[in-house]
Amino acid sequence: MNRTARPHTGAPNDTPADARRRMTTYNGTRLATLPALGRLPAALRRDIHVVSHVLPFRVNDYVVDELIDWDRVPDDPIFRLTFPHRDMLRPEDFDAIASLLDAGADPRVVRDAADAIRWRLEPHPGAQLEQNVPHVDGEPCHGLQHKYAETVLVFPAKGQTCHTYCAYCFRWAQFVGMKELRQQASDPSVLTDYVARHGEVTDVLFTGGDPMVMSTEQLERHVSPLLDPSLDHVRTIRFGTKALAYWPFRFTTDPDADALCALLERCVDHGKHVAIMVHCTHPRELETPAALAAIRRLRATGAVLRTQSPIIRHVNDDAVTWATMWNRQVGLGMVPYYMFVERDTGAHRYFALPLVEAHRVYRDAISSVSGLARTARGPSMSATPGKVVVDGPAVIQGERVLALRFLQAREPAWCNRPFFARFDPTATWLDQLRPAFGEERFFFEE
Ligand SMILES: *Cc1c(COP(=O)(O)O)cnc(C)c1O
Ligand code: SF4
Repeated sequence: MNRTARPHTGAPNDTPADARRRMTTYNGTRLATLPALGRLPAALRRDIHVVSHVLPFRVNDYVVDELIDWDRVPDDPIFRLTFPHRDMLRPEDFDAIASLLDAGADPRVVRDAADAIRWRLEPHPGAQLEQNVPHVDGEPCHGLQHKYAETVLVFPAKGQTCHTYCAYCFRWAQFVGMKELRQQASDPSVLTDYVARHGEVTDVLFTGGDPMVMSTEQLERHVSPLLDPSLDHVRTIRFGTKALAYWPFRFTTDPDADALCALLERCVDHGKHVAIMVHCTHPRELETPAALAAIRRLRATGAVLRTQSPIIRHVNDDAVTWATMWNRQVGLGMVPYYMFVERDTGAHRYFALPLVEAHRVYRDAISSVSGLARTARGPSMSATPGKVVVDGPAVIQGERVLALRFLQAREPAWCNRPFFARFDPTATWLDQLRPAFGEERFFFEE
C-alpha cells in the first residue's frame, strides 16, 4: 500500500484487523517478563527493579523493539529516557528500598517507604495546582489551568497516563497514584462554560499525561463543543502528545485512528488552527517507518506539527543531537518550537543540566541550522512567575551576568523585558539565581 497516495484523511484505514499492532506494556511488576532485559547484567536489572518501586515505570513493545538500540544499553538514549536508573534516587534512598526488598518486606511497608521518598522529590513543582486553577462563580474548575491570558490548559480525566513514561516526567507523581495530587476534567462543560466567559482565550491546549491515550470517542466529547459558533474566539486547538514517539499507530492503524484524523480535519474545516505539540526528545523517535507514516497522516489533516522537549542529561545533552533533531523535523514539515529546561522534580538530580550548559547546547545547535529550524526557543524554564528563557552569559560593566527574559508571564507586561542574574555556572533553575548588580530582588519579585 502506498500511504502517501492515500486520499485526504478520513479515508478508511485499510490495514486488515489482524495486521494491526496491539500494544504490550511492561511496568515494574511485569519487568521480569520483558525478554530484552534478559540480556542485561543482573545488577542493572536489580537497579531497575528497585527504582521502579519509587518512580513510575512503564514501557511498551514499540519503544522496546523499535526505538531502543539494545546493543548500546545502558547508554542508549531512549533506554535512559524510559528506564529507571539507580542514580535517580539518592544513594541512601536507593539502599533503603533495596534492603526492604531483600528482606522480603510487606508490600505496604515498601510502599510507605517509597511514599516518604516521593514527598521529598517535589511532587508538585511550582505549586501549579493551587495557583492556576480558574474559577467560575467561585467554584474551582478542576482539570483546567489558566496562567497565561491567551491559553487554557485542559487535563481530561481519561488522558492522565501515557503510552510509555519518560523517566524525567514532571507529572510523575500522578502516575504513582499520589491521587490527592491529581488534576483532571471529566465533564467537558467545565471547559466550555469557562471559555465562554473568557473572550481573551484564543488557545485551548489539551494535555495530560497524554490526551492521545484517550479513545477518539472520549476526545471528541471534549473537542467538539469547542467548534460551537459561540466559541469563535478560540482560534487554536492544541494537543500536547508524545504518542508520535511512543505509539505512532495511534494516528495510523489503531482501530479509531481514522476517526481521530477525521476529528482533527473537522476542527480545521471549522476554521480552527489545529496544533499537535509533538513531544520529541531524540531524533531516533523520528526515524521509524511507523513514525514517518504518522507524521504524513497528521499533516494531511491540515494540522500543524510543532515540536518541543526538555534538554535532558544522558539523553539529548549535546548540540549535534538537537541540530539533527531540528533539521529532521523541518525536513518532515514540523516546526521546532521549544527547548525546555527539565523541571526541579522527581529524578531531577539525574537529568538536570546547569542553565549555562543548556544554553551552550542551544546556542551551538541553533547556530548550525537553517533559519527554518531557528523557530525553536529556549532553553526555557516553566517557572512559577512564567516561562523564562536563558539568553546566555554576558559581561556588563565588568560583572559576569546571565541574561534572562520572560517568554510568557502571569503579567503580560513582563514579557521580553531583559533582566540579569549573577553568573552562576551550577544553577539549574530560576530559584537558584540571584539578581546581578547588587540588587536585592528581580523586578518580578517586588
Ligand atoms: C507553556 C504553557 C502554555 C503555553 O505557552 P505558549 O508559549 O503559548 O506555548 C500555557 N500555559 C501554561 C501553564 C504553560 O506552562
Ligand atoms: S509524555 Fe509527557 S506526561 Fe507523559 S511521561 Fe513523558 S513527560 Fe510525562
